[in-house]
Amino acid sequence: MDVERLAQRYAAARERVAAAAREAGREPADVRLLLAVKTQPPEVVRAVLEAGADLLGHNRAQELAVTGPRLAEPGVPAHEMHFIGHLQSNKVNQVLRWATCVQTVDSVRLAERLDAAVARRADDGGPASLDVMMQVNTSGEHTKSGVGPSDAVELAGAVGALPRLRLRGLMTIGANSTDPSVVRASYDALADLRDRVVGSGAPGTADARELSMGMSADLEIAVAAGATMVRLGTAVFGPRPAP
Ligand SMILES: *Cc1c(COP(=O)(O)O)cnc(C)c1O
Repeated sequence: MDVERLAQRYAAARERVAAAAREAGREPADVRLLLAVKTQPPEVVRAVLEAGADLLGHNRAQELAVTGPRLAEPGVPAHEMHFIGHLQSNKVNQVLRWATCVQTVDSVRLAERLDAAVARRADDGGPASLDVMMQVNTSGEHTKSGVGPSDAVELAGAVGALPRLRLRGLMTIGANSTDPSVVRASYDALADLRDRVVGSGAPGTADARELSMGMSADLEIAVAAGATMVRLGTAVFGPRPAP
């Protein structure tokens, strides 16, 4: 896709998110747009940053290892890089090298590994804390990662207690359904859990306000349910090549 077309699609996506916010009686500035850049080459990712994007999401450690160094080059616009994929423990260090937030914490074990890796990084003079979010499987579909809703408040307490992780919110992948009310229920469930986590009073949970939810097909539903961050891929980059 040429650069001008990419910039137009990015601008149109931003307008779509803003319109969804207004429709829901919310401020457009309260919903951030994260671009899910999987399968996009570094040149395309750089071009979308130059078009004004400031928040990227990677879900493959391998791709992040290729794109990360290219986006650290001089002249690349400042941006945040979130990890939004399933994180294998042997990829933790690779991901921490480039990610400013890991959205997919779904077990105490992974949280402890991240905390320990940040401690080692800090010993080497790197940043001493990491923003994280908790991935919840709100739809109950067995193909999806994420902690079960009934274990989410307890996991939030365990993550919040780790000294180097800062719990910023919750993330989910919406129900895979053509019925908007089923999709909406999965997003309402995340908002409800967020309120329970923040209201739990457990140490380290008071700032867990973000709701990362909504993709190209259903962002309006997610924004109506309170999303503070929607994650878009195909709406900006077009259809992905078949794997
Ligand atoms: C790919 C991806 C998205 C974006 O999906 P689109 O349907 O392309 O907008 C959002 N979240 C995650 C975790 C993804 O992997």
